[in-house]
Amino acid sequence: MLLRALLAVAVMSVTAMVSARVILDVEPVTDGAWDLRTAGGATVAMAPISLGNPAAAATLQVHRPNSPRDATLTKKPYNHTVRAGRGDTLTTMLVRVGIERRDAVNAITALKKHYNPRRIRTGQEITLTFQPDAGGAAPGRFLGLTLAPDFARQVKVTRGEKGGFTAMEVEKTLVRSLARAAGTIDSSLFEAGDKAGLPMPILVELIRAYSWEVDFQRDIQRGDSFDIMYEQVTDKDGAVVHTGNIIFAALTLSGTRNAIYRHTTRDKHTDYFDAKGQSVRRALLRTPVDGARLSSRYGRRKHPILGYNKMHRGLDFAAPRGTPIYAAGNGTIRKAGRNGAYGKYIRIRHTGEYSTAYAHLTRFAKGIRSGKRVKQGQVIGYVGSTGRSTGPHLHYEVLKRGRQLNPLKVKMPAGRKLTGKHLKRFQTARADIDQRFAALGLEMAIASGE
Ligand SMILES: [Zn+2]
Repeated sequence: MLLRALLAVAVMSVTAMVSARVILDVEPVTDGAWDLRTAGGATVAMAPISLGNPAAAATLQVHRPNSPRDATLTKKPYNHTVRAGRGDTLTTMLVRVGIERRDAVNAITALKKHYNPRRIRTGQEITLTFQPDAGGAAPGRFLGLTLAPDFARQVKVTRGEKGGFTAMEVEKTLVRSLARAAGTIDSSLFEAGDKAGLPMPILVELIRAYSWEVDFQRDIQRGDSFDIMYEQVTDKDGAVVHTGNIIFAALTLSGTRNAIYRHTTRDKHTDYFDAKGQSVRRALLRTPVDGARLSSRYGRRKHPILGYNKMHRGLDFAAPRGTPIYAAGNGTIRKAGRNGAYGKYIRIRHTGEYSTAYAHLTRFAKGIRSGKRVKQGQVIGYVGSTGRSTGPHLHYEVLKRGRQLNPLKVKMPAGRKLTGKHLKRFQTARADIDQRFAALGLEMAIASGE
């Protein structure tokens, strides 16, 4: 299994990059300003332990030559990184570390040319630069600051010889590349992804992309595996500063490999498609009953029983008692039981975002209960008039993140199947992705050239 071994190396390289970020924090202001033996040395040695281990990372902080008192001994300019707390303003942060208010205000005034100081976020890091005082008093003379509004930009404020501050935007040299991570699932996809060094946004995207087909709480078994290629942006030192999208993923469940490709169609529709050009998304049925008449639309209406105006948050389909009701899409039953005015009620979760609900049923189909997986079109129950209802009908709701939407107006994620020219274009793109993916297994990382 040479390929397996190589994959392991690829994953290792991803984690190695993460540890590089830690080392960067002790980068000297000027080349050679830091004695690596006393400053960087300990940090470099400790970096690998800190990965995925918050306790070790915390220890690392202590060992950082980041304290103004340590640094004043060297007489060389040094950096001190501060992190914005809740409610902090840039001014309070600077004054807190001992910078004179006048200097702080002047530096921030200069900064405003490139960055609005009010946009500072909790947790954001600002690097301050000081020249140690001859007398050794901390923190020394304030020379300027650096902050990154986003992963691609850096704003630097420096003090001139006359004492005034000027700001400039530093363009970062960034490399967009592809990374590959693979793993076998022991207990959960989350754990396996974490172990493989998969960044959290990638894991979230992976689950979202597959959620139309896979119930991650039920379908995942020990021995299932994943193999993913995703975009990442690294700086000149190879540190990952940003992760982009999944370009390709293969999820192997019970021996069946399910591959998906990210693709933007000519009409600017970006989605994941399987190898045959079928979108991974599954549209929800708009009419989950046969031969039914739409008897009440979504919106404000005079309630037939209560008599006053009330918002109707679904569609009503009038149909004879006992008419079969279909699951609008693949999913998992979250509720199947009595639900107040809804009467006998079913709710199906289709993805992390979408659910559908069915009310006033006369009875449930055999085997329908909470936790059960259903396929699109499967009979889940039968039309009735239970709960607050004047006659046999299906009350149908589409919910997005728990809130009802007008099912007729929902821009239903289309389960598009590429055909003709679109399919041809996809096949070319797919071959290119396959090639990059294969190459990545052997060479670990290739610039995508974008
Ligand atoms: Zn209704």
